[in-house]
Amino acid sequence: MTRPDLSESDADLARHMAAADPTNKLDPPAAAAAARAAIELAQAAGRPQDAARAGTWLCGHLLRQGLHLEAAEAAAALEPQLQDAALQAERCEALRVRARALCEVGRFELALAAAHRLEIEAARAGSADLALTAAYTLGACLDRLGDPWQATRVLQTASDVHGAMASPRQRFMVHVGLCAFLGDTFHRMRDAAAPNERADVLARARVHAEAARQLLPKPSDPVHEVVVTGNLGEVLLHCGEHQRAGELLQSSRQRAESAGLVAYRWRAETSLADWLLAQGHAAEAAELALAVLQEMGSAAPVHTEIRARDAAARALCALGRHEQALEHFMVFERLERRRTLHELRAQSQLFVTRIEAQRAQWQAEQARGEAVRQSQRAHEFAERAERDSLTGLGNRAHLERRAAELWPALDRRRAALSLALLDVDHFKQVNDELGHAAGDAVLVHLALVLREDSRSGDVLVRLGGEEFVVLMPGTGAETARDACERLRQAVAGRHDWPALPAGRKMTVSIGLAFSQGPAEDLVTLLGRADAALYQAKNGGRDRVCLAGAPATATSL
Ligand code: GH3
Ligand code: MG
Ligand code: MG
Repeated sequence: MTRPDLSESDADLARHMAAADPTNKLDPPAAAAAARAAIELAQAAGRPQDAARAGTWLCGHLLRQGLHLEAAEAAAALEPQLQDAALQAERCEALRVRARALCEVGRFELALAAAHRLEIEAARAGSADLALTAAYTLGACLDRLGDPWQATRVLQTASDVHGAMASPRQRFMVHVGLCAFLGDTFHRMRDAAAPNERADVLARARVHAEAARQLLPKPSDPVHEVVVTGNLGEVLLHCGEHQRAGELLQSSRQRAESAGLVAYRWRAETSLADWLLAQGHAAEAAELALAVLQEMGSAAPVHTEIRARDAAARALCALGRHEQALEHFMVFERLERRRTLHELRAQSQLFVTRIEAQRAQWQAEQARGEAVRQSQRAHEFAERAERDSLTGLGNRAHLERRAAELWPALDRRRAALSLALLDVDHFKQVNDELGHAAGDAVLVHLALVLREDSRSGDVLVRLGGEEFVVLMPGTGAETARDACERLRQAVAGRHDWPALPAGRKMTVSIGLAFSQGPAEDLVTLLGRADAALYQAKNGGRDRVCLAGAPATATSL
């Protein structure tokens, strides 16, 4: 009776998966519990993909509950299970959670590394939605590092590039992010920027806050609802639209409470304290701010505590309770200084100055230039090693390398191949009668004649002494013999050899070896050409002899 059991546990798993799936908009604590149950069932049923998927959802639910350390650890532990190509979405989500959670606990280096990997995954996937998620994540890291300007720029740029191709849900997220980053910019500019500049930032934040609320997907995710309503409420409060601001902030608070989102409720209540104070209800504002501070205690997220201390200080000050106000103000100042120091430290560890970046770029360019020069030198060296310094033709090493390169293709194509070995006749006499320099001049000039009379695909080398090789790939015996004959005639017909008395003639003997089909190796071919050359010499010189065939001498 295993069947009913199996289907029962299958149904159980399906039920828990549905309850854990973030697209089903359950409250985070309930969804996290469902995810845990689903992981267990999936593991027991031997379904690793379901377990990995539920694991990823769990990370997200932990993040939403403000359990940052837990979320970061869970996401890191999950990584080995997410290597399957089919789990790309989950891999990205785990990276997103890691980056966001690590930022919140001040581990910026790791957070940025995760954000960067997310960017790479997004680029690989070529997805607009993932690219925007990555930009949002990177922006959130930068924002937490104390740089909401750069955060805004990163997300705005990504939105300009990918926005049109993104899903409505992702466009909604971009508005949420831009509103948050601009809101932080606004707060950071307090007491420090020209009022019109600040108003400008607020106006931009408002555009995104309104757009996000308009686009809020239905049925809505409780976290999105709380954040979007709260953000718009805060922006409107700063715009002086108290009536609507109050409604929104109340609604954000209530939704956070009903969904069990404690940290979001604290934040909404802090904003409500600000709102009460703005309405002139200092006593109620002070009461609320102090209640939030007490409830948060040591669990207070630093950003919320800073704002709650500020609200409390201002409310108490308005009530004339200066001593108490000062107490909170001092904590506020201390927390802000600590946060600033923390951010500056993190920034100085992570960011290079423009000067350093330029220096690094310059050094990289220098290194690149040096590498190019080195490879040029290596190339020149290799060239020189294969060149005969007297005639400028290739030498034996060159012939060997070219043969090694040519042979495989010739073999494959079973192509014809001819090799001519050319030796100057009675060369010793030139040396003896006219001197070594005259002999050299003849060799140089002979090289020119060879160059003029051979084709570009031929390999021309001076083998040594007064012996030359013309390797003719893809050339059959008849064509090669014609070519050699032309060469022979070009030499014999010349009567203006430099350094030789006018009218003095030079001749060459040529031994030609030919191979068809599997190419004979170079040494064998050379040996046969040498034997043919010997025949040509014996036959009276100034002639071409074909190896392996009866001597077909031609003479003038
Ligand atoms: P054969 O017709 O039988 O080939 O007669 P040959 O005189 O050309 O034959 P041999 O091989 O006896 O002579 C080659 C000469 O080439 C001997 C050597 O001194 C000379 N030689 C070798 N390398 C060079 C060089 O680089 N420059 C000059 N000027 N002479 C060289
Ligand atoms: Mg000779
Ligand atoms: Mg010789």
